[in-house]
Amino acid sequence: MKLAAKLVSGLLLGIVLLLGVDGYFSIQRETELYETNMEHDALLLGRAMRGLVADSWRADGGVRAKQLIEDANHEEHEVHIRWVWLDTSSDSDLSPQVPLEKLGPAVRGEETSLKAREQDGDEYLHTYIPIAVDEKRPGALELSESLSELAQYSRHSLISTLVLMGVLLLGSGLLVVPLGIRLVGRPLHRLVEKTRQVGKGDLSRPLHLRGHDEIAEVAAALNVMCEQLAESQEQIRAEATARIAVLEQLRHADRLKTVGRLASGMAHELGTPLNVVSARGALIAEGTLSDAEIVESGNIIKAQSERITAIVRQLLDFARRSVPHRVPVDLRQVAEQTIRLLTSFAKKRKVKMSLAGDDIDATTEADAGQIQQVLTNLIVNAIQAMPEGGKVEVAIRREHACPPEGHDGSEGEYVCLSVRDEGVGISEENMRLLFEPFFTTKDIGKGTGLGLSIAYGIVGEHGGWIDVASEPEEGSCFSVYLPQEVDGCTKES
Ligand code: ADP
Repeated sequence: MKLAAKLVSGLLLGIVLLLGVDGYFSIQRETELYETNMEHDALLLGRAMRGLVADSWRADGGVRAKQLIEDANHEEHEVHIRWVWLDTSSDSDLSPQVPLEKLGPAVRGEETSLKAREQDGDEYLHTYIPIAVDEKRPGALELSESLSELAQYSRHSLISTLVLMGVLLLGSGLLVVPLGIRLVGRPLHRLVEKTRQVGKGDLSRPLHLRGHDEIAEVAAALNVMCEQLAESQEQIRAEATARIAVLEQLRHADRLKTVGRLASGMAHELGTPLNVVSARGALIAEGTLSDAEIVESGNIIKAQSERITAIVRQLLDFARRSVPHRVPVDLRQVAEQTIRLLTSFAKKRKVKMSLAGDDIDATTEADAGQIQQVLTNLIVNAIQAMPEGGKVEVAIRREHACPPEGHDGSEGEYVCLSVRDEGVGISEENMRLLFEPFFTTKDIGKGTGLGLSIAYGIVGEHGGWIDVASEPEEGSCFSVYLPQEVDGCTKES
């Protein structure tokens, strides 16, 4: 039930109750008054007749006295007066209308008024005025008056009260219902609509309610709240944009640092095809080759040039600042390429790299460049953690995993890329700081402290997380979990 309807019904019910109670007590009071008046009148009449009847009885006998009473009945129509003996119920003419057992006080000489229902169904008020005319028998004047008029009066009062109640109810209903709808129902409905709108995130269109009542105050407070919410949302949006911009810059810086590290690997990668191109070019220049050999050398030069172009493009792609570009990617290819680019960097530090997990379907939707950046950071860290050289094992596997606390995502299938080394390991104290930006234990110029924090951000944006296990002096294992199925990510082709 709507609030306005409840208020209106409550009000109308209150009116009905008040009128009902007032009507009931009014009728009751008036009935009592009417009865008291009747009783009083009967007593006055009875007392006035008592002397006359007693004198007549003594002077002229009972018959004359009864005749006097009979004459009085001709004058009086509303009250019927009779002579009754209070010791007999058998003599129908002279026995009282009220049963004798109720007439004790009258027998003792007290004036008494009693109500009794007669055979015709009407109720009567009988008043007994005792008169001592016979020493042996108690006698009295009985004055009877019908109460039917009173009953009729009560009925009329009841009906008029009910009619009045109906009219008042209708009148107040006609007045209160539209007022309730206008003053409470509609404003509340608009308030509810506005609240729903706010719940859906729409903070525009302030609610203007006329008047100065509490509902209008709530609406005004709601408008102020919406304005403040909109302002703070705008602020949060601006801060988020600024944070993203800073993060992007940091990522770019880290990417350039990684490019620098990869340069030596690139030199090695480019060296071989360049040597081939140079040797084949020299052979052609000598002019001793047959036509077929020239064609063959030309094809080799072309193939090697394409390889060089591809390598250079890869490096440029990697170094270029780009928005995440998620497409189905085979993570094994990404791992192979990264290992290839880092081979000469590893060799110089007497580190051997291996890749396990050949037979696994490691396809997921990801930005290959970003994942390569993550992997490069992890492998470079692993190599740097082994100053005396050692082994870095990169492994790919699929795992049914549940994201750790604080990470979004749900339990399910994940592709796990792990990088294990036999290096110095990480102390418990440093473990807590690993992913903090600018945390580094490396010498100035060697470490920026950005690699892991950026890797953490990239993997998180892919819906995954990084797990670290490490034992000081035994080595460390960094595992990157990426979801097999990517929810809510825009597939780009
Ligand atoms: P940076 O390599 O520039 O120092 P990172 O964020 O990549 O920055 O690494 C932060 C720190 O984490 C490193 O300085 C190092 O102390 C520690 N760390 C990272 N990877 C390893 C690892 N494989 N073994 C030991 N320590 C590591």
